[in-house]
Amino acid sequence: MMIVMAPQASADEIEAVRARVAETGVHVLVMPGELTTAIGAVGDPERVRELGLEGMAGVDRVVPISRPYKLASSELAHHEPTSFEVAGRVVGGGTTFCLIAGPCTVESRASTLAVAEAVRAGGASMLRGGAFKPRTSPFAFKGLGVAGLELLAEAREATGLPVVSELLDAQHSEELARHADVVQIGARNMQNYALLEVAGRLGRPVLLKRGLSSTVDELLMAADYLLKEGCERVVLCERGIRTYETATRFTLDLSAVPWLKLHTHLPVVVDPSHAAGDRRLVEPLSRAAAAVGADGLLVEVHEDPAEAVCDGPQALYARDFAAFAASVAAHAALLGRTLS
Ligand code: PEP
Ligand code: MN
Repeated sequence: MMIVMAPQASADEIEAVRARVAETGVHVLVMPGELTTAIGAVGDPERVRELGLEGMAGVDRVVPISRPYKLASSELAHHEPTSFEVAGRVVGGGTTFCLIAGPCTVESRASTLAVAEAVRAGGASMLRGGAFKPRTSPFAFKGLGVAGLELLAEAREATGLPVVSELLDAQHSEELARHADVVQIGARNMQNYALLEVAGRLGRPVLLKRGLSSTVDELLMAADYLLKEGCERVVLCERGIRTYETATRFTLDLSAVPWLKLHTHLPVVVDPSHAAGDRRLVEPLSRAAAAVGADGLLVEVHEDPAEAVCDGPQALYARDFAAFAASVAAHAALLGRTLS
């Protein structure tokens, strides 16, 4: 249920409604808007209905929320898109485009610093890089771990770019939150609900990737796991899904972008690298993502993709990154967005 307060409702009236709802044991979220405050009550709708909130001072109306995802729903958030800053870079909100770029995995100090500098110079908003890698085979390289996080932190110092890195296991959560500006939840862990709850409590923004075989409804319910822990800075990432098509690594579901824009207030970025698995497709898919209204991109970049430890075939050449970014920026500009 969503309780919409009247524009003239006082702080005491808002608090009285919040406290009344909280007594029933449902999850309560107070969302001050420009004109009115809305109070989300997520849980047993019957019990909330029995409270007779319509009669309380300052209440304008009580609206049922019918969707299976509650906190991520645009119904709950007054239809105002969520936007937030990461080290001065705006994510979401409709006027900026966020370019997150870097290697699949952190490999060495020299390569990390070189790619970071190349993407910074090319106009990237943030640096990505995996220190803990989810690998399909247990015998593949699993990342440098904490040493990788330290290299990313050094690259941030050198370039000023905030860092996005994946949390694979709750045991590394504190370390990850210390070194990374944005915590990534990978596609394979989208439905690892215990990990989502840990990530949601870290006090960092979270980039949540869509599961390989997950519906968009399931993605938004996974986002609810983060939001209910008090993590309000969540960005969703479409990274391709499993279909019968095998020509590309995954099938990039670009329709998910405008669909998500209709159904959630959260920002949406697109990862064309993991979807395509082929660098030649990354730029056209990136332009398409900008054209369907994505809030940004997550792309893999390497100095020498032939030598990359992981995902070389889909990595953009670092030397081509500036031209790539300019092309994408031109498409984002058609929708009134500038690189953040
Ligand atoms: C990644 O971005 O490093 C990654 C492993 O992607 P995904 O979780 O989408 O497979
Ligand atoms: Mn990768």
